Amino acid sequence: PPHDAASAPDSGVQVVVRIRPPCRVDEEEAGDDGRGPEACVRKTAVNSVAIQGQDFTFDAVADAVSTQEDIFNLVGLPLVENCLSGFNSSIFAYGQTGSGKTYTMWGPLSALSEDSVSRNVIQFYYNAQIYNEQITDLLDPSQKNLQIREDVRTACVYVESLTKQYVFTMKDVTQLLVKGLANRRTGATSANADSSRSHCVFTCVIKSESKNPEDGSSSTRSSRINLVDLAGSERQKLTHAAGDRLKEAGNINRSLSQLGNLINILAEISQSGKQRHHVPYRDSKLTFLLQESLGGNAKLAMICAVSPSQSCKSETLSTLRFAQRAK
Ligand code: ADP
Ligand code: MG
Repeated sequence: PPHDAASAPDSGVQVVVRIRPPCRVDEEEAGDDGRGPEACVRKTAVNSVAIQGQDFTFDAVADAVSTQEDIFNLVGLPLVENCLSGFNSSIFAYGQTGSGKTYTMWGPLSALSEDSVSRNVIQFYYNAQIYNEQITDLLDPSQKNLQIREDVRTACVYVESLTKQYVFTMKDVTQLLVKGLANRRTGATSANADSSRSHCVFTCVIKSESKNPEDGSSSTRSSRINLVDLAGSERQKLTHAAGDRLKEAGNINRSLSQLGNLINILAEISQSGKQRHHVPYRDSKLTFLLQESLGGNAKLAMICAVSPSQSCKSETLSTLRFAQRAK
């Protein structure tokens, strides 16, 4: 039986499932009687779904009636607040191609006002794409195969020569976002590198000032918020792939499962309070790049996007299983 949220163990990773509304492609599955097809997955409670007679429970479930604002208030806002208090935060969108990851991350949202940016100090902004374990600068796609470096003195991980843009207004952010997304769409890395096969990492570095209540002194801290639109999680067909395509498919499968493993380890650490594991950040470019944003006091949210279409049932089930493991 599904247990309620209060009894669900908290891994420190917020896991939200979003079932996108049916769209025209799905409707073609409808019978001649004109009725829409039955969804393969449905929301059964505020935090659970049912599929094939199985129940899954998460922190929250969003469905067709949920708006971008709802998702922002549920997931985005707490992480932005966490970031403004000086802690790194990341949101991952996981799911098969066409399930609504990109829509969820960058879709219509009117909740962000000019005010919310100018009041706070976004220091700078950058945007990278990881395709086939190679990092491309989405603000300057001529910069390919960038290397991750570690500053030995500060132990900070960074991508060498990735374009950093200072931003001051909401308009600056929007322009950069549009530019990055356009570069991603046109296949910044190679002719067949469409967005479904690359991870897109959008990062804002925020400067926050805090006052020490005891002596009134103030100190500034930098924290990051990462929005990560992951490569499509559909099982990459290794059987008919050859050469570069085979290598690429293997890299996607590997980096997504390594991200999953890493989240499981972090969840275990957060539950047991013990740092007894070796955390394998360096196993993939994605986790290496995000190293500083994942451990310690960092907050993570995973939005697992699923399609209600019958033809997507097995991928939807596998996404729900991935989401379950992250809890
Ligand atoms: P993905 O990035 O996972 O491949 P997309 O975000 O591109 O998927 O979504 C696939 C299609 O479904 C797009 O046309 C998108 O506009 C639409 N879509 C996805 N989620 C929603 C939603 N919650 N409401 C309305 N349309 C959506
Ligand atoms: Mg997408």
